[in-house]
Amino acid sequence: MTCGKIDFRCTRCRLSKGRTQVVPGNGPCDSRIFFIGEAPGKDEDLKGQPFVGRAGEVLNDAIERAGARRDQVFVGNLVKCRPTDNRRPRREEIEKCSMFLESELREVSPKVVCALGQTAASYLLNTRDKMSDLAGKEIPLAIAGKKVRLFVTFHPAACLYQRKNLKRFQEDIRRCLEAAGVVKNGLKK
Ligand code: URA
Repeated sequence: MTCGKIDFRCTRCRLSKGRTQVVPGNGPCDSRIFFIGEAPGKDEDLKGQPFVGRAGEVLNDAIERAGARRDQVFVGNLVKCRPTDNRRPRREEIEKCSMFLESELREVSPKVVCALGQTAASYLLNTRDKMSDLAGKEIPLAIAGKKVRLFVTFHPAACLYQRKNLKRFQEDIRRCLEAAGVVKNGLKK
């Protein structure tokens, strides 16, 4: 399910030139939790859905370990088009795309937002603080006109080869699903 108003023909920034298609967030529009990643990668660009590649497997696995399912949560990205060289999206690209993220956030109206990785955390919190300081933190924030509990954790791709990050990531995902009320006493592993 896509939520909010997305312009599937958007050409507001140069990312539109290299995309196969726009990749909107997806999940139930009444989800209590909204995960925000960075940008679609190659797999997402081809399928038109966020987090369907290897990083998506890490995210899905953590959600399932906590006792929930991916189809219970809303997952989206800061920008809706893939940077072709797999670089991080630039500030001006994120800003030009922010109306779509905001529209998704307004419709879903989650209790809890989880920033996946440095780029999402830096943008949402307007901070230069590093992941080493931010990961695992819960910060109250007004997003799209509403107070939410913002949780920050690693980007799932940063957990692929870092076991230490992975354990912390899984624990953070369990905590934010619990805070949102998606799981009760999330399974601890
Ligand atoms: N990384 C992201 O940040 N988003 C995706 O959708 C896939 C990989």
